[in-house]
Amino acid sequence: MNIHEYQAKELLKSYGVRIQEGLVADSPEGALEAAKKLNATTGTSWYVIKAQIHAGGRGKGLVNETGSRGVILAKSLEDVPVKAAGILGGTLVTIQTGAEGKKVNKVLVAEDVYYPGASEPKEYYLSILLDRGKGCNVIMASTEGGMDIEEVAEKHPEKIIKEWIDPRLGLQGFQARKVAFKLGLEGVAFKEMVKFITSLYNAYIGSDAAQFEINPVLKTSDDKILAVDAKVNLDDNALYRQKDLAELRDIAEEDPLEVEAGKSGLNYVKLDGNVGCMVNGAGLAMATMDMIKLSGGEPANFLDVGGGANAVTVEAGFRIILQDPNVKAILINVFGGIVRCDRIANGVVEAYKSIGDIPVPIIVRLQGTNAEEGARIIDESGLKVSSAITLKDAAEKVKAAIS
Ligand code: GDP
Ligand code: MN
Repeated sequence: MNIHEYQAKELLKSYGVRIQEGLVADSPEGALEAAKKLNATTGTSWYVIKAQIHAGGRGKGLVNETGSRGVILAKSLEDVPVKAAGILGGTLVTIQTGAEGKKVNKVLVAEDVYYPGASEPKEYYLSILLDRGKGCNVIMASTEGGMDIEEVAEKHPEKIIKEWIDPRLGLQGFQARKVAFKLGLEGVAFKEMVKFITSLYNAYIGSDAAQFEINPVLKTSDDKILAVDAKVNLDDNALYRQKDLAELRDIAEEDPLEVEAGKSGLNYVKLDGNVGCMVNGAGLAMATMDMIKLSGGEPANFLDVGGGANAVTVEAGFRIILQDPNVKAILINVFGGIVRCDRIANGVVEAYKSIGDIPVPIIVRLQGTNAEEGARIIDESGLKVSSAITLKDAAEKVKAAIS
C-alpha cells in the first residue's frame, strides 16, 4: 500500500528522521493558514506547494487545467493561495501517472529548505528495499539526488552505493558510517547523515515497509540532513498489525474497479484486452490468460474469485467485468475442487438473471466435481451461455465469439 508524502513524512518524523516541515491543506485558504503556521514555527518566508498524489515526477509534471507544475515555490504568504489554486482540483500528469494524470485533492505546504548559507544545498538519493535475491534489506544511496535513479543505475551504476543488512543483526553502526563516508560527507553533515540513515532504517523496520525512497535527501547550506521527498510503500501482508498505518489508505488513489473487487474479496487486475475472464485460483488464472492469447484474444483482466466461489462472488465478478467497455466475450474457467461445478453453474445462471441481459457471449468451462451436471445446468438454462468441459473446446468457443 502506498501512502501520501505528507503521511510518509509524519511517519518518518515519529522515528526521529529530520524532514522538511510542512502542513497539508485541501483549499487555497487552508494553504494560506498552513503557511502562516509554518512561518510561526520555522521562521520560513518562502514555501513549496506540493501536489499530493501517489506518483512521482511531480516537480516536472504539469497540471492540465492551469499549466502549473506539481511542485512549485511561493516566495511570499500572499503567493501561497494563488499557487495552491493552480494545483488543487487539477489533473496532474507526470511520467508516472500515464497520460490521463491524477486528480489533486490535497497539497502539502512545506518550508523552503534550499535557503542560501555557508555552502550550496546538495541533493542525495537514499532508499531502502527488500533484495529478494539476497533475502535481506538493502540500503541504496547516491550522490546523484533529485535525478531519476533508474537513469543513474543505467548510465553510472558505479554511482550507486549498496549496503546489505543482515536480518539477524539489523543495521550496524559501521554500515551507516560507511554509506555516509561513500557519499563524501564529513564533519557535522557526516554525523547528521549517520543519524538520518539509522532512524530511517528504524522507521522502515518499525512500519513493516516494503520500500522507502527518499529523493532528494538534502544537505542544507548549514549542514542539516533532511528528507525533502518521501515515497513509502507498506507491506500489505503486515497491515493487520499496523492498524494506524492501514488507516492512511486513500481509496481515491486506487483503480475504482480494483477497489470494488477488493470489497467482494476478489483479486482483480484490469488489463487492456477484449476477453474478460473469471477463474478460481491464481495459477489457473495465469493458464487461462495464456489460453485466451492462444485463441487469438487478449485478456481484459485477471480475476481470481478464490476457492470459495459462490453465486454472490460470481455475480460481483460479472458486474466488474461488464464495466469494462472493451470486453467482447467472457470466459469463466472454474475447477471444482472445494466448490462443486453444479453450484458454480447455478451461481452463473442466478447472476445472469439478476443482472439482466448481458450483451456479450459467455463461455463457461467447468471441470472437476460434478462437471457434467454443471454443464447440463448451463445448457438447459436457456440463456446465451455456452458450456465447455475441455480447455480446447473453451478456446474454440472464445475464438468464435470474438471473430
Ligand atoms: P517529485 O518530483 O514528485 O519527486 O517531488 P519532490 O518532492 O522530489 O520535489 C521535486 C523537486 O522540487 C525537488 O527535487 C527539489 O528540486 C524541488 N524542491 C522541493 N522542496 C524545495 C524547497 O524547499 N525549495 C526549493 N527551491 N525547491 C524545492
Ligand atoms: Mn522526489
